[in-house]
Amino acid sequence: MRRVAISACLLGKSCRYDGNDNYAPALLEMLKGDELIPFCPEDAAFGSPRPTMDLIETHRGIEAVCNESGVLRSEPIRTYVRNFFDRHGMIDLFIGKDRSPSCGVCSARLYDTQKNLLSSSVAGLMAQEVIERNIVAIDAEKFEGRE
Ligand code: SF4
Repeated sequence: MRRVAISACLLGKSCRYDGNDNYAPALLEMLKGDELIPFCPEDAAFGSPRPTMDLIETHRGIEAVCNESGVLRSEPIRTYVRNFFDRHGMIDLFIGKDRSPSCGVCSARLYDTQKNLLSSSVAGLMAQEVIERNIVAIDAEKFEGRE
């Protein structure tokens, strides 16, 4: 049985920024028999609903910035991610919601400080940590074969 870490919104948890979910029954069908370990760094750090955030290339590297307030939001997410992996140990596969600035594996958008789009294919903050840990990671839409 694989241990699969997966964005909680794909399981139907109402943890998106707007209080909705990204329930993906076809994807879950493909994971039948696996142990699913849900995560949502943004809900844990900021609650739901919450203001959106974007990834910005800064002089300190890539940071998450709240679109409403301009406040940096990276650190609470990074803390959640470290605790998540300390708590759950070995993970065989990471499935992140595509395009999320936290969970997207190679589909998150990156902007410069003037909000010009630099890339649409970077890893979100949680996915960055996953990649650094050499865990196999994939965007949900790719896993489903929709992309
Ligand atoms: S994409 Fe990630 S951060 Fe956003 S709601 Fe889903 S699990 Fe939470």
